[in-house]
Amino acid sequence: MSLSLYSAYRQRQLEALLEISRALTSRLDLPSLLRTILHYAAEMVGAEVGYIALTRPGGGMRLATGYGLPSRVFNALAPYLAQKSADPDFWSEAELRRQLAIVREALGAPLEQAIALPLVLEGEQSVGGIFLFRSGSAAFSPGDRSLLRDFADQAAIAVRNARQVEQLRVEKARVETIIENSPNGVLILDPEMRVLVSNRALSNLVGLPPEHIRGRPCAEVLQLQNPTGDHLCLSGRPLPPPTGVWYGEGDIVRPGRRRVTVGITYSPLFDRNGHLLNIIATLTDITRYREAEELKSTFISVISHELKTPVSLIKGYASTLAREDAPLSPEMVREYGRIIEEESNRLNELINNLLDASRIQAGALQLEIEDVSLARIAETAVERFRTQSASHRFELDFPADLPQVRGDEKRIRQVLDNLLSNAIKYSPAGGTIRVGAWREDHRVIGYVADTGIGIPPEEQKNVFERFYRVESGLRRSTQGVGLGLYLVKAIVEAHGGEVWLQSEPGKGTTFFFSLPVAE
Ligand code: ADP
Repeated sequence: MSLSLYSAYRQRQLEALLEISRALTSRLDLPSLLRTILHYAAEMVGAEVGYIALTRPGGGMRLATGYGLPSRVFNALAPYLAQKSADPDFWSEAELRRQLAIVREALGAPLEQAIALPLVLEGEQSVGGIFLFRSGSAAFSPGDRSLLRDFADQAAIAVRNARQVEQLRVEKARVETIIENSPNGVLILDPEMRVLVSNRALSNLVGLPPEHIRGRPCAEVLQLQNPTGDHLCLSGRPLPPPTGVWYGEGDIVRPGRRRVTVGITYSPLFDRNGHLLNIIATLTDITRYREAEELKSTFISVISHELKTPVSLIKGYASTLAREDAPLSPEMVREYGRIIEEESNRLNELINNLLDASRIQAGALQLEIEDVSLARIAETAVERFRTQSASHRFELDFPADLPQVRGDEKRIRQVLDNLLSNAIKYSPAGGTIRVGAWREDHRVIGYVADTGIGIPPEEQKNVFERFYRVESGLRRSTQGVGLGLYLVKAIVEAHGGEVWLQSEPGKGTTFFFSLPVAE
């Protein structure tokens, strides 16, 4: 090659490499990049046919792009390459000859010369190879090989970049999916404590759509009440970088919805120079845990109080009866015996209620459903209560044609007993207690109405909760653990019915319940 020819050739090579570098830094996709590289490489060494094959993540190789390669050659080569891998054997002369033979036969062209270069970056495994073929008797020279090396390097960089970008995309998508679908609320904050990212669970917890969360100071998004522990959002500025995480707890109060207690973990994220990049806040709903804790302590205090009274009465009267020196008339013995029996009944009832409550909680309330007459159950219940309270007047209000209901007689009796005993307890000045029912479509609606102390409007939604007792002058003087209405509600709901109430403080209360009509 003459000097001027050589320098023109050299010039063309540099132009080609420059062109490829430009293409690499532009945002071209991998197939277009590889096509450009292969095109220039083939042109520079005067190859008529060529291809780039890439390793596949699962094994085997795939044809990424071809030059002067009609589809019939493509189809002949692809299955052959699919069962190969880029191990040392793959770069042997014999292997190259085999590929030359496949291409020559499929193409029907007198190709004689072949060259292959692995796409490999320093210290890394080969990601594939460039293969070029030409006709004629002039073999590829070491000069051709070193020239092609540059193109192979460029192709290796293109493949590595594309794979890294793809890997980043997959990892980003993975992290986004984890964040979005996490059952915990997540907030990613900037160092100024503004929200950059939030997820679905967080929207549910704070009751705000994502567009009302992003970009806002986190103190506005998390308006916590009763906070304890570290509250970065509420403290304004971030604390100096500590080792580890901050933890706080507090209540999220959302208008018209139930209070949610959350535990928040704040984890800082620093860059390589130790500058704070983000704070990641993770919120866990600990309402149930808190409620269970509160319930446990209420349970212990209520039960110990309610158990102590009858037990100490029973013990006192029993030990008096057992004393040999006590001068007891037969009337006194009978009276003490009656008190012991009454208090034992109370204990028994309390234990049964506790057992029922735990059965309900475990979802194990069994009903024996049959056709029953609500009027008859109410009559016998009222008879029993009439003898217990002289200061109350009882009225029954059942239409003669009231249909029977589908229900468990024992449990319906329990509902009426609880409502009647409350009506008596919470109308200490006496008055009328009316029990009745009417039919409405496919249900019978029963009620127990009193003219007692009533229930303040803000307390009405609470009275069906376990161990809940309204704070009133009567709370201390009346017996009860706050399980009666909880059981009433659970029993009625197990029948497919509902419970509700109407009440006016000072005037009285009516509890309603529905049961399915028997037909
Ligand atoms: P308990 O009677 O053992 O306290 P309940 O679950 O039966 O428990 O009732 C819960 C609370 O609801 C009572 O403590 C009382 O404050 C209130 N309550 C229930 N029934 C009535 C009623 N008829 N009138 C006024 N308040 C009532």
